[in-house]
Amino acid sequence: MIRDQETLNLLLDTISRFVRERLIPHEAIVADTDRIPDELIQEMRELGLFGLSIPEEHGGMGLTMEEEVLATFEIGYTSPCFRSLFATNNGIGGQGIIIDGSDAQKAHYLPRLATGEIIGSFALTEPDSGSDAASLRTTAVRDGDFYVLNGTKRYITNAPEAGIFTVMARTDPTKKSADGISAFIVEAGTPGLSLGPIDKKMGQKGAHICDVIFEDCRIPAANLIGGKEGVGFKTAMKVLDKGRINIAAVSVGVARRMLDDALRYACERKQFGKPIAEFQLVQAMLADSKAELYAAQCMVVDAARRRDQGLDVGTEAACAKMFASEMCGRVADRAIQIFGGAGYLAEYGIERFYRDVRLFRIFEGTTQIQQLVIARNMIREHS
Ligand SMILES: Cc1cc2nc3c(=O)[nH]c(=O)nc-3n(C[C@H](O)[C@H](O)[C@H](O)COP(=O)(O)OP(=O)(O)OC[C@H]3O[C@@H](n4cnc5c(N)ncnc54)[C@H](O)[C@@H]3O)c2cc1C
Repeated sequence: MIRDQETLNLLLDTISRFVRERLIPHEAIVADTDRIPDELIQEMRELGLFGLSIPEEHGGMGLTMEEEVLATFEIGYTSPCFRSLFATNNGIGGQGIIIDGSDAQKAHYLPRLATGEIIGSFALTEPDSGSDAASLRTTAVRDGDFYVLNGTKRYITNAPEAGIFTVMARTDPTKKSADGISAFIVEAGTPGLSLGPIDKKMGQKGAHICDVIFEDCRIPAANLIGGKEGVGFKTAMKVLDKGRINIAAVSVGVARRMLDDALRYACERKQFGKPIAEFQLVQAMLADSKAELYAAQCMVVDAARRRDQGLDVGTEAACAKMFASEMCGRVADRAIQIFGGAGYLAEYGIERFYRDVRLFRIFEGTTQIQQLVIARNMIREHS
């Protein structure tokens, strides 16, 4: 749903200009230093990027899902590490509070997430619990007005920078399934919370992940999201439905960038006396990429519109995430092929995108998990 086309166009133009004038020129240096310069982070705050989907009454822009994916198409036109910094506030790190938080939790945390004063992280995955997230072992035991958390979370995006964590932990050890899981807000700096060293990754340098460790970490009982035990896994899944549409949208944005770069190169690079873009085998790679990109873009917008209508988008979000992230991987591969030897060199930047986008097929549910979600929903609806 687009509320006001003119206002949205202004926002999309502003983001597009910021991406082209400020972020793209910094791509190589951020990759080399593994750090986004402070002045760029401040500019992101001033543009309101940390609060795109946080409700207006809590200081954000309150974008609808359709508006947000259109913004993400623009944001995706550069290294995904930039988006990663503010995406958790709008997505997995903030949505648990937005969707299921109490009024007091919203009033306390959302304004600071919206301005980017604090960063929110989402801590579901554990060393022995990845795709099978419902088997998580972190415990939260009630002790008067507190819960005491113990356990380790793994690969947590923005954990080194985070001010708060949405943490899924087991409050009912007698239930081994999703029913025993609750969601909590844990503030960084709480005694008993510590971080592992920053993990070295294949790509997305500038975006950081690490372990988050809880050792007798006491948090106020008031930080139980929504004030209700046993519904934390449902909260996490609602958060991920939205997150998956966003990963699909950023896949579209980065694929557009790689395809534009590949097209430009194909028109400039000459072999056998003419631009390689004139060779039909190169044209096939361009055309296949364009068609798949268009299909993914349509899926993302459709899934977003359905979510705005209040429909259950579990299947559509999984379809869009699976198709768009796999599409992005194929476009990255073809782009390298079109660049030839130059595609393999760091100087041209295309190999960096190839490494960066590999993650899209893994996090927020691997492609195989999306397949399971889609098929399970199909079978359930059939019966
Ligand atoms: C850079 C990065 C950032 C991340 N950020 C976060 C974050 O912010 N918060 C968070 O909670 N997590 C985060 N994750 C974790 C991520 O969501 C998990 O890595 C992912 O869900 C897969 O879990 P796993 O790594 O344990 O793989 P596994 O679950 O061990 O899977 C390994 C392989 O087995 C396959 N597989 C597993 N089960 C099945 C099955 N039933 N049928 C078929 N195939 C199956 C998988 O598809 C995969 O190919 C992040 C990961 C990375 C790498």
